[in-house]
Amino acid sequence: MQRECDVVVIGAGPAGSTTATLLAERGHHVVLVEKDSHPRFHIGESLLPANMPLFDRLGVAEEMRAIGMEKWGATFVSPWHDRTSGFQFGDATDPDLPMAYQVRRSEFDEILFRRARKVVAETRENTRVREVDLGDRKTRPTVTAVDAAGATHEWRPRFVIDATGRDTLLGNRLKLKRRNPAHNSAALFGHFRNARRDCGRAEGNIIIFWFDHGWFWFIPLKGDVTSVGAVVWPYYMKTRKKPVREFLMDTIAMCPQLAERLEGAQLVEEPTATGNYSYECDECQGENYLLVGDAYAFIDPVFSSGVMLAMNSGFAATEVVDARLKGEAMAEARARRRFEWAMRKGPKEFSWFIYRVTNPTLRELFMSPSDRFDMKKALLSVLAGDLFRGTPIRKGLFFFRIVYYAFSLAHLRRSLAAWRRRAFNIRDDSEMPLARG
Ligand SMILES: Cc1cc2nc3c(=O)[nH]c(=O)nc-3n(C[C@H](O)[C@H](O)[C@H](O)COP(=O)(O)OP(=O)(O)OC[C@H]3O[C@@H](n4cnc5c(N)ncnc54)[C@H](O)[C@@H]3O)c2cc1C
Repeated sequence: MQRECDVVVIGAGPAGSTTATLLAERGHHVVLVEKDSHPRFHIGESLLPANMPLFDRLGVAEEMRAIGMEKWGATFVSPWHDRTSGFQFGDATDPDLPMAYQVRRSEFDEILFRRARKVVAETRENTRVREVDLGDRKTRPTVTAVDAAGATHEWRPRFVIDATGRDTLLGNRLKLKRRNPAHNSAALFGHFRNARRDCGRAEGNIIIFWFDHGWFWFIPLKGDVTSVGAVVWPYYMKTRKKPVREFLMDTIAMCPQLAERLEGAQLVEEPTATGNYSYECDECQGENYLLVGDAYAFIDPVFSSGVMLAMNSGFAATEVVDARLKGEAMAEARARRRFEWAMRKGPKEFSWFIYRVTNPTLRELFMSPSDRFDMKKALLSVLAGDLFRGTPIRKGLFFFRIVYYAFSLAHLRRSLAAWRRRAFNIRDDSEMPLARG
């Protein structure tokens, strides 16, 4: 039986639950469909200060506080330096966003999903969307899903939101998805009990350790479990001959500063490995649909930007769909321009740093950050995810980049060697076609 509604949101991760909640609160008849059931494991545990105002606006700040480990900054550890480098978000251009949380995504996503369930007309878990006919200006889309018992559900909404994360449902169907030609990496990760953390307010800081084949994250969660992951170049992942657990432990042994923190720590469950995940879609919107969060693009987790960008895209998407459903053509056109800008701005700002984070020059600047020309403040604002509130960071970032290029020129041989090395590292022999342009 086909049911009519205003919007079907496909996927109840941070992007989907946020969009569904906001649209339902504007009075629209929303259906939220999720293939799994909450709580469920998901990677992506380190949040950014820019998430905090979004929690306030959704009314979930207290619940997030209850599950979150406070994260006041980030620490970088380099085997090529005899010191660590610490950043406090409170030192950013706008000190109003001094803190974020580290969270178990099972708990975090469940809070957002329950929030949506309070206001959304219909939520369905264990129900996978299999087909989407997007219709056109005159014809409604059709969304077909199958639940765990094998029953088929069909909706005829006026608008479709694809929030399917890395499954990229519409990106695949519409052949919009492209491998990122400028980046390529893989990850293996697990949860450890009794890792040695820093003390006091720094306990919840994310720690990034560089090593020869990439970098590690060290994310202390509330309680005594710490998430540890290695983000490595694909060539390194391809050398794996052993089970993931042994391979992860061997990889950790290559980074003595991290290995020392994990002495006596125990893996809580079997670790996970995941292949190349750097991609983007050619478009983020069409006549009757929008792609939000990872359904549009994902580059790399090094700056913990994924969840913030996913939720932020839900806010921008809401303006488009609301205007469309109210028949306000001018407002819709404005909102679509704003949505497009928001979807491209995040990946663009972060990717400049992501593409260079294993480069010795950028590493140097991270290990000895300078406050001249507000460079460090602006860098911290990016690390805090403060990209969408008009905080004045352009000047600081401009000088940061000038210094980076000047350093690269001053150490030309090293820079060329790093550039050649990176070109080798990002090669990919997967089937996914390269992005155009
Ligand atoms: C190794 C790694 C580490 C990361 N670390 C961080 C980090 O520290 N901090 C951070 O912010 N981000 C991190 N990320 C990124 C983060 O995981 C994502 O950016 C974020 O989860 C995106 O949210 P989303 O709602 O767009 O997608 P998701 O969270 O993936 O949610 C998509 C939802 O859609 C559902 N779904 C998929 N297909 C269908 C279908 N056909 N029908 C119904 N439902 C469907 C899925 O089950 C899922 O619940 C990391 C990513 C990786 C790969």
